[in-house]
Amino acid sequence: MSSMIIVMKKDATSEDVDHVVERLSSIGCESHVSVGQRRTIVGAIGDRESIQQIPWEAMPGVDRAVPVLKPFKFVSRDFQDEDTVIEVRGVPIGDSSQFIAIAGPCAVESREQLFRTAEAVKKAGARVLRGDAFKPRTSPYSFQGLKEEGLQLLAEAREEFDLPFVAEVLDPRDVELVASYADILRVGTRNMANFTLLQEVGRQPKPVQLKRGFTATIEEWLNAAEYIYKEGNHQVILVERGIRTFETASRNTLDITAVPILKGLSHLPVIVDPSHSGGKRELVVPLARAAVGAGADGIMVDVHPTPDTAKVDGEQALLPSEFGDLMNSVRRLAAAVDRSV
Ligand code: PEP
Ligand code: MN
Repeated sequence: MSSMIIVMKKDATSEDVDHVVERLSSIGCESHVSVGQRRTIVGAIGDRESIQQIPWEAMPGVDRAVPVLKPFKFVSRDFQDEDTVIEVRGVPIGDSSQFIAIAGPCAVESREQLFRTAEAVKKAGARVLRGDAFKPRTSPYSFQGLKEEGLQLLAEAREEFDLPFVAEVLDPRDVELVASYADILRVGTRNMANFTLLQEVGRQPKPVQLKRGFTATIEEWLNAAEYIYKEGNHQVILVERGIRTFETASRNTLDITAVPILKGLSHLPVIVDPSHSGGKRELVVPLARAAVGAGADGIMVDVHPTPDTAKVDGEQALLPSEFGDLMNSVRRLAAAVDRSV
């Protein structure tokens, strides 16, 4: 078994695509058509020799044919050499000349809490707001989020502070609801291998942040990204948030090595979450700084106006003033790696 990706030209017609699919089926190959916003790609799986015998690039509407040896195909650098840049309301995520800060409360608790945080993070230079309305909690008795009311508050904050927002979606049945409000959907660490959810977020048009499963290898993670991509949603952002190791001094171990490895293997944007990685306030700044140096495209940071009263993850939330200091430091480091904040 081997595979090839056939990249269609931007102006390819649906007949051109059908023609490629028919040709593949005539040689006994399986094909997966992925219609993206910019172009259509056809993944072909079958006998290597039969696939390679066809002069794909001579067929109408075909741009190029790329053999792929890795288990993940579309998300790999073999398939696309240039970096994917995802524009969210004018904010480019994955642009190697910029470093994007995403910040906000772990969970939306009230209008006051959200608006105070959003105002502060905007002032400090964050380009995207985070805030969850659906929370994946270890205990079923813990605060589960404000649900749709939380999404409404986030949408109001977006208008008030001119900040697009990202929010987690936990359940395939809520994808439509969350996507109707949020600018970016997030699949959390506990759902990285929830293939039904991955397919569902892959079938809607909003960009998706995919967090690394806390016990997932990089290859498993990229395969999860492939599930989303293959459905036609090519706007996938990888978020390293720490993995579970033998170390107990921090909540998780930030796998900083994953950042340059991902950059080599994949064209997708990579963001680091220093808050969920360390799980402690004092670790957030050093881990965020490490992310800049390692070549990440940005960070996602928990900020809360009164961390002592936070319903979720208060121990790792920065105060707005601490986030301001972090941004000053990140700005200087980003300049050293030719990125602006
Ligand atoms: C979060 O970002 O609030 C979150 C729940 O993160 P994770 O899925 O990485 O635990
Ligand atoms: Mn959290």
